[in-house]
Amino acid sequence: MNNIVSLSGGKDSTALVHMMLERGEPITDVVMFDTGWEFPQMHDHLKEIERKTGITITRLKPEKPFTYFLLEHPVKIRKGPEKGQINRIGNGWPSPFRRWCTRIKVDTIEKYISRYKNPVQLIGYAYEEMHRIKFNSKYPKRYPLIELKITEDDALKYCRELGYTWGGLYDHFKRVSCFCCPLQGLKNLRILRRHFPELWAQILEWDKRIGPHNRGFDHYAMAYDLNRRFEAEDVIEKKQEKLCFEVKV
Ligand code: SF4
Repeated sequence: MNNIVSLSGGKDSTALVHMMLERGEPITDVVMFDTGWEFPQMHDHLKEIERKTGITITRLKPEKPFTYFLLEHPVKIRKGPEKGQINRIGNGWPSPFRRWCTRIKVDTIEKYISRYKNPVQLIGYAYEEMHRIKFNSKYPKRYPLIELKITEDDALKYCRELGYTWGGLYDHFKRVSCFCCPLQGLKNLRILRRHFPELWAQILEWDKRIGPHNRGFDHYAMAYDLNRRFEAEDVIEKKQEKLCFEVKV
C-alpha cells in the first residue's frame, strides 16, 4: 500500500502528518493542492512542516490559476439547442451548487495519485467530522484522526505543542482555507476585512471584475454589498463605544 497524505496545511492535516510519523506508519507522499488563494502565512507554514518532518511536500497546481477560472474562463451552455455556445465569461464565485474549485482540486489530486500502485489516500478529518466521510471514492481512503478520536481542538493543541503558529492565523480563525472562499461565514469575512485588509481589497477587486452574472457570496449579495454592510456596522460600533464612554464619564 502507498499511503498518500492529503495536506491542506491546516491544523488537522498538519497533525495527521506528525501523528503518522510518530506512530511509525509509512508515508509515501504528502500532497498539497495549491489553489493560489491561500493566506501568505500558509506557505511559510508548509516550509515549516518540511523543516520539522524532513518530508518534501508535493505541491500540485491547477492547469490555470483559479483567478482565471473565476474571471476569464469561457463557460459554455451544456444542454439544449444552444449547447456549446458561450454562456458567460468566468465561472464567478463558487457556490454550494457550483463548486468548480473543489472539482478541479479533487480531479488534480486523483490524477496525481493514480500514478501510484495500491494508493491509500489519508485524509485529515477530525473526529467530529465523521459525517464528511465518503464511501464512493475512487481510491481507498483512511481517516486516521477519526480512528484515533482526535478532535479539532486536540489537533490544534498538538500542533501548537510542536511549535506551529501559522503566523497567527488560528488566533483569528477557527478554520483556515482559501482566504476568499465565498462559502465561509460572515464572522470570518468580518475578521478578514479587519485584520487582512489587503486580502479583502483583493476580493473586492475580483468581485468588481466578475461582471453582471456575479452570483455573489453565499450569505449576502456581492463582496461590494458585504463591504457596505461591514462599513455600516463599524459606524454603529463606534457610536456605541462613544456612548459607553460618555455614560462612564
Ligand atoms: S476553500 Fe472554498 S474557494 Fe477554496 S477550494 Fe474550498 S470551496 Fe473552493
